[in-house]
Amino acid sequence: MLQKLPSCPFCGKHRVVRHGFSKLKRSRRRRYRCRPCGRSFCTTTGSVYHRLQCSQNKFDMACALSMEGTNKSGIARLLKVTWNTVARWLSRAAAAAKHFNDKKLKDFHVQEVQADEIRTFVGSKSRPTWIIVAIAVGSRLWPSLVLGRRTYRNIRTLFTDLFTRAQMSEVPLITTDGYNRYTLALKHLLKGACLYGQVVKTRRKDRVVAVDRKVLIGTERAMAAALENSEDSEKLNTSFIERLNLTIRRSPAHAREGEHLKAHLDLLQCYYNFIRPHGALKFGREIRTPAMQAGLVTKPLTFRQIFTAVLFWAWICSSFRSHLRPVSNNG
Ligand SMILES: [Zn+2]
Repeated sequence: MLQKLPSCPFCGKHRVVRHGFSKLKRSRRRRYRCRPCGRSFCTTTGSVYHRLQCSQNKFDMACALSMEGTNKSGIARLLKVTWNTVARWLSRAAAAAKHFNDKKLKDFHVQEVQADEIRTFVGSKSRPTWIIVAIAVGSRLWPSLVLGRRTYRNIRTLFTDLFTRAQMSEVPLITTDGYNRYTLALKHLLKGACLYGQVVKTRRKDRVVAVDRKVLIGTERAMAAALENSEDSEKLNTSFIERLNLTIRRSPAHAREGEHLKAHLDLLQCYYNFIRPHGALKFGREIRTPAMQAGLVTKPLTFRQIFTAVLFWAWICSSFRSHLRPVSNNG
């Protein structure tokens, strides 16, 4: 059987021929040449591994360590590379993850949604910022994320993003905490075509002393019927989004600069949805990832698969122009 040749990362065409090898430290890598545009390339051209000075495993390992909560200094020490290298790798990986998330997180079915805001900070603790997230309860998929101030506009952005990505059931069930902007945003976006409830927890000395549940869009009766039908919730609750919040907090969800925090969250979102099997999604021996449960993929993915799945040519052109010489034959 003929091996399928890659398409050209420069022009996207498929008329490609084998074009010798390039020498690596311990091995060699097949090069290809594109007939229509005449450029040569190898399988890493245009990917995050482009001109990587060490093994791809090391790059993937840095990403995995970051996702499991190791900071950049820790990763640098463990992998014996400099802090700057780790920072550069992670920002490349994050851009790739964002691209992947944007492409893949769509056309999944949603019946029940929970949303919440996590207070965090950028730089010093005096500069609070919010990570506003939504989760599709049935699959545990985390499709949408907004970083910024806790405002009506950002809440609306979150739901607009979610509703454009997902195939919503006719009357979705949405639950949040008691922040009043949600009601406004949902009324505006869905014109009342949903069931919306809030769970307001009163805390005293870090302990929940009272839980107040109220229905804000839809009738009590319709809500009771929806909860009766729900596979995941018996009562109005926010426990699924709280579990996700914990994952985000542990990863650690703060940074010296907002840009770094956004990058970290993009990579984390990709890791959470596609790579790490979710403890609550155990079916016999199989532990699924949220993306599997949502029907977007059939297996847990690896960083390698994600980083080689899409070529980031457009992205690389804008952010890493200096690393690439598109016209040269060594690209
Ligand atoms: Zn080409």
